[in-house]
Order: sequence, then structure tokens, then C-alpha cells
Amino acid sequence: MSMPTQQRILKTALPGPRSIELQANRNDALANGLGQTLPIFVEEAGGSIIVDVDGNHIIDMASGIAVTSVGASNPRVVARIAAQAEKFTHTCFLVTQYDVFTEVAQALNRITPGDHAKKTALFSTGAEAVENAIKIARVATGRPAVVVLSHAYHGRSLLTMSMTAKNLPYKEGFGPFAPEVYRAPSPYPYRWAGGAEVSAEEALAALREIIVTQIGATNVAAIVMEPIQGEGGFIVPPPGYLAAVQELATEHGIVFVADEIQTGLARTGDMFACDHEGVVPDLITTAKALAGGMPLAAVTGRAEIMDAVPAGGLGGTYAGNPVACAAALGAIEAIEEDGLVQKARDIEALARPRLEALAGDGSVVGEVRGRGAMLAMEFVRPGTTEPAPEIAKAVAAHCHAEGVLVLVCGTFGNVIRLLPPLVIEPALLDEALTVIEQAVEAQR
Ligand code: PMP
Repeated sequence: MSMPTQQRILKTALPGPRSIELQANRNDALANGLGQTLPIFVEEAGGSIIVDVDGNHIIDMASGIAVTSVGASNPRVVARIAAQAEKFTHTCFLVTQYDVFTEVAQALNRITPGDHAKKTALFSTGAEAVENAIKIARVATGRPAVVVLSHAYHGRSLLTMSMTAKNLPYKEGFGPFAPEVYRAPSPYPYRWAGGAEVSAEEALAALREIIVTQIGATNVAAIVMEPIQGEGGFIVPPPGYLAAVQELATEHGIVFVADEIQTGLARTGDMFACDHEGVVPDLITTAKALAGGMPLAAVTGRAEIMDAVPAGGLGGTYAGNPVACAAALGAIEAIEEDGLVQKARDIEALARPRLEALAGDGSVVGEVRGRGAMLAMEFVRPGTTEPAPEIAKAVAAHCHAEGVLVLVCGTFGNVIRLLPPLVIEPALLDEALTVIEQAVEAQR
């Protein structure tokens, strides 16, 4: 397998002529509802470089939305996929079993927070994992209600779309939504009501009021939270909040589900974002980085909760596909053997000071936040906290034109997030940051 040169090389304007041709075919063939961030077509990808059909080498600061954390086409992942595909590609685990499924479950039981007895069930997508966490929590508690936060993103299926906060483009026209989903305010320090920073106690009081007073704690099956909200804008809750939520859940017999689909598996500079504060959720959902680019997702958690659903209640035709499971073993091995938790911290050490230097009085960058290799800038109208989605869009467009792939997120569409592969070489990261700096400077 050849790895593309880890260098930014621009041979044409982006998108190049061949990508423009393919875009026309795509537009004829595909439903409008499928969006795209950068209208290029990919020829190959390796490490932190995406090579398009016009021969341009683009620096990947997105990892396919936090998926290729071990780098695109990681050799450990590719070798395991090839070996497994040679043997068999599918049996349906519910029909005839294979050990690689169990091996992934054992790995997740080992690396997720807490040393209590744990069990795992595998699925294919993040939304499916979240849905199944709710199914498990409902059976385990015999209760219906699910509590989520504003700015949350949990997926696009009916239940997870109902749990997702943002209307456009995720919900508009897709109702009616699933019942028994309740929303508490997200502790968003930069935008808490009144403009003051929110404390963990204050945010917890708002959550408690909704659970205890409005819904009734005995009706609540699960509280589901992203330890750092991803699509919502890389929102980091105040220290102590997640631990207090777990305590509140335990006090009322509620299952606390940490959705670590975006934050999990070394991304934030810990194996899981919950580890940062020693929080041990009852259930944890994983996907994205779990299998280095293959579709695989999981629910892992307390054995007694996981075992509440009787045989036949969980599963799916493709859930825990053997090729995806083999890829996951390669990805977990890469994370552990290649020191990717530390690499995420190194990325933060290099990137954060440079991003922070762009913020400050009168800047278009209102705040820099995140953790590890999950960092973001929130753009505002200078001198205010008013969201400036047009500035985020212009900065992203500038980066894209210069061959650096960044993603926009945030409830107000005004956040640029950086999710580089954890294996990114420091020189390449440095180059990407220089382009990002120039893009922001151009907006001053
Ligand atoms: N939860 C979180 C926190 C996510 O970031 C995502 C995907 N962005 C999902 C759930 C849904 O995952 P999938 O797209 O694989 O269904």
C-alpha cells in the first residue's frame, strides 16, 4: 500500500476540472438532501492527506468528522480489513457467530471508563447506538422519558433526530417527532443566559428542575449527554458538571448515557472525554473513530443494565459486521500502541496557543475551546457576542481554497472545528494552522 506524500500540493483551483465534471454527474444522480462541505472527489487518502481526482493534496483537518483518528488508510486497519475480507465478509452475527465481534466487545469493556463489570453490544452507526442505549435504558428502568440538552446532536433517525436540538437542517419538515424527549439547557459557558459564565451547580439546578419538577424523576429512563458537545459547537461544560449529572442520575435510578461518538477513542487527549474528570457513565456510546473508517458502533456499560433486554431484542443484519470488527481491532491497537492519546495532547499544545492568539478584544474570534485534538473557534461580530456565521463560512471557504479541509459546526453555524487525524505530522499541522491564521486575518 502506498501512502500519499504528507504534503499540501495544489495543482488546480479547488474544485479542479475533473471534480467539476463528477459534480455534474452527482447532481444528476443524487437526491438534493445530500449536502457536501468541499465539492471535490477523492482518489486516495492516507495519513492526514486527501488526494483528489485532479491530483491535489489537501490537508485533512476533519478526519471524515472525527472518524479517521488513526489516519486515513491506517496500515494496521487496512491489513486487518484485507485479512478478514479474504476469510468472510458477512454471516450476520445473529445467525452464526464470529469471535472478532467478541474481541471488540472485550476491548471496549476494557478501555471504557470504570472497572465495574461491563458488557457491550455492537451496531453499525452512531444513531443506532444511541437508539439502542435508549431501548436498553427503558427496559432496565421500566420508564419512558429521555432527557437531553440544548445544542445536542445524537443522529438522524426518528428517535435520535428528536433528541437532536437544531431544527435546520436536521429536523425541518421531518416531524412528527418521537415522544418523551425532554430538553434541559446546555451549560454553554460562552452563551449562558445573562452572559455570565455558568457554574456546574447552576447548570445542574436547571437540569434537576426539569427532571424532578417537570417530568418526575420516576418517569425518566435516561439522561443522554455528549461530554463535549460536537455538532453543537464543541461546547465544554464547566468542570464538575458531568460528575454531578451522574450523581443526580444515580440518586434517582436514571441511566446516565455518555454519547462519546465524537469525543471518544483518544480524540480529546484521554481515551474517553469522561476520563478527563474521572466520570464513569452507566452506558457509553461509541462509533466514528472506533473502526478507523468502517461502519461500526457500540453501546458499552454496566452489565446489569446491558443484560436487561432479553435475547433477540438487540441486533441488526449488519450490526458488528466482521470486516468492521477487524478494522476496530486495528484502530484500537493503533490508538494504544502508537500513543495516540498523547498525540491528541501534543496537537492541543501546538494548536491552542496559535488559535488563542487570534481571539481577544475586537476580534472576530469570540472564543477558542475544546480539548485535545477537538478544538474550535466561535466567530462573532467584533466587539459583541453576536454569532457571525458568514465569517465562519468565509474563513472555511478561504481554507478550502488553500487546500485545508475544515468543518463548520455550531447551532448558529458560526464555529469552525478542527478534528485532525491524531497521527498528523507536526509540520503538516503547522502548515494547516498557518493557512487558518491567514484565513482569519483576512476577516479582520
Ligand atoms: N452522536 C454524536 C455525538 C455524533 O457526533 C454523531 C455524528 N455526528 C452521532 C451521534 C450520529 O452518528 P452517525 O452519523 O454515525 O449515525
